[in-house]
Amino acid sequence: MTENLLNDALKTNLPRSNSHAARKAVVSTIKKCSKCLNENEIECICKQTNILIRPAYFEETCFIFSETENRFGVSSNELLSLRDLVTEVIYPFNKEYDFYRLNYNHRFNIYPIAVVRAHKKSDVVATINFCVKYRLPIRARGGAHAYQPASLVNFGIVLDQRPRDNATIDFVRNQVTIQTGALLGPVANKLSEHNFIIPTGTCVTNGVAGLTLGGGIGFYLREYGLTMDQLVSAKIVLANGSLINTNSKSNSDLFWALKGAGGGNFGVVTDLTFNLTKIGYVTIFTLYYNFIDAKAVLKTWQSFAPNTITKLTSEFDIFNKYQPVIVTGQLLPVKNPKSDLKLLIKLIKPLLDLNLQTNLSIKTMSVKESYEYFGQGSYARPLFFYNKSDFNFDLLSDEAIDTIIYYMSLLNKSQTHHKTEIDALGGNFSSIASEATAFPSRKAIHWLQYTSLWDTSDEQDPNIEWLQSYYNAMRPYFPLNRKYVNALDYDSTRESALNSYYADNLDNLITIKQKYDPTDVFRFEQSIPVSQYPINQKN
Ligand SMILES: Cc1cc2nc3c(=O)[nH]c(=O)nc-3n(C[C@H](O)[C@H](O)[C@H](O)COP(=O)(O)OP(=O)(O)OC[C@H]3O[C@@H](n4cnc5c(N)ncnc54)[C@H](O)[C@@H]3O)c2cc1C
Repeated sequence: MTENLLNDALKTNLPRSNSHAARKAVVSTIKKCSKCLNENEIECICKQTNILIRPAYFEETCFIFSETENRFGVSSNELLSLRDLVTEVIYPFNKEYDFYRLNYNHRFNIYPIAVVRAHKKSDVVATINFCVKYRLPIRARGGAHAYQPASLVNFGIVLDQRPRDNATIDFVRNQVTIQTGALLGPVANKLSEHNFIIPTGTCVTNGVAGLTLGGGIGFYLREYGLTMDQLVSAKIVLANGSLINTNSKSNSDLFWALKGAGGGNFGVVTDLTFNLTKIGYVTIFTLYYNFIDAKAVLKTWQSFAPNTITKLTSEFDIFNKYQPVIVTGQLLPVKNPKSDLKLLIKLIKPLLDLNLQTNLSIKTMSVKESYEYFGQGSYARPLFFYNKSDFNFDLLSDEAIDTIIYYMSLLNKSQTHHKTEIDALGGNFSSIASEATAFPSRKAIHWLQYTSLWDTSDEQDPNIEWLQSYYNAMRPYFPLNRKYVNALDYDSTRESALNSYYADNLDNLITIKQKYDPTDVFRFEQSIPVSQYPINQKN
């Protein structure tokens, strides 16, 4: 009975609280459990006192403990002993479990045996040692924004570092050391108080850890490169429990690998140190267009944006046909706020000359305000999403542009968050050699993201189907099949995905994996394998 319940929940992708009403009859018939050994009494959300004496979701707790024991041979008592080793651990019988087992994307309905909330580095070490001792799967989690459930695992342990969120500025070296549970928004705010930046994206709820370890694309990119390009050192706990420093001199091979392939592959990173850049203000702009003019705008923007001065980075966004098409971007300081406003107008002349815009907004603002301006959507997005992406190395053909516009035009009025976003690359991002870090796609001129978003799990199928047909129709235009590891694609086979993320750097990454994680403790569906080809197809 309990097994069926959990299997159904896993299949239907429903956060289990949604299905509570349907199950309360079953819950009330279950006898006391000997597996989970839980003594807590948690009020059931249905408020029926006859089941208050048992933990809510009692049947799932038992199943998760039983299944963990069956798969890994770890008893309930052993699993519960983790409580004595770390500061905070959340089990399926704890009322916070449903919150902590979910990532930002609620599409992933995963049931770990425990979520460790690491408050200090010793919690990270203890959790890794525990997982190695009992051969339990472990997943590191930073900001929980992974596009696929790479930071979650059924019946294993999620090592969530969000309580470790300090950012310490070294004003002598002009560097910042950020603990890997930190989210981007608070870090950017703290840095901006001192007119400092690190080059990041604009999603303020994103984790600094995942963003940096996979790359970090954003509006600073054409001048300062990816977030990871400003990284000067990283501390990491390896599978043997040792905490080591990595930088260009010490464990430099691992430092190289962490820059672009550090998410979930080699160990759990605890601290990231970056060079800081002083920036007092930025000049931002947004141009609005009618959907019908999308093709003309994209044709002009796509060659202008990757080739303009490196201080200007912009993106092209197209939504459903009832919403304006947008080109928005940011100019970093060139001279002073007043003359930069004039310069920006000059720079975007190729777009203004089209004379198609319905509106133009252009402003000078502080860096803090710019994160608020661009990051406002981070909190307002629907809970469920599905995403695909491509690095583009050549201008999009008319046919490719028509395909984008056609698929966006199929959306109905209520699908307001679905989006195709094209980010301009090039500039100093491209002057870094493809083999200088693990991130190989330096010669790409655009990063395209196709995203569908929805509010409730029952809306999932049509939204995924739309995006899959759209993505399939775009395949002929991206023969190199290069992708961004921070936009994981689990529809690809493991081998194809690894080649698309790492290209010629993959062999070197496998060698480094063999050296630092020879027993493959840190693994997920598309992790770097310990052995050379053929790569075991896990999907
Ligand atoms: C709304 C939204 C907006 C985004 N915007 C951008 C953007 O502007 N630019 C951009 O480049 N990307 C963007 N992304 C993608 C984002 O950068 C990646 O999804 C990133 O991996 C998320 O990092 P995280 O720490 O929040 O996620 P998590 O889910 O916590 O982790 C992601 C991966 O990193 C691993 N990991 C986390 N912490 C550690 C650690 N301490 N040590 C080792 N491995 C670790 C995890 O195991 C997992 O494999 C966006 C994503 C979302 C959902």
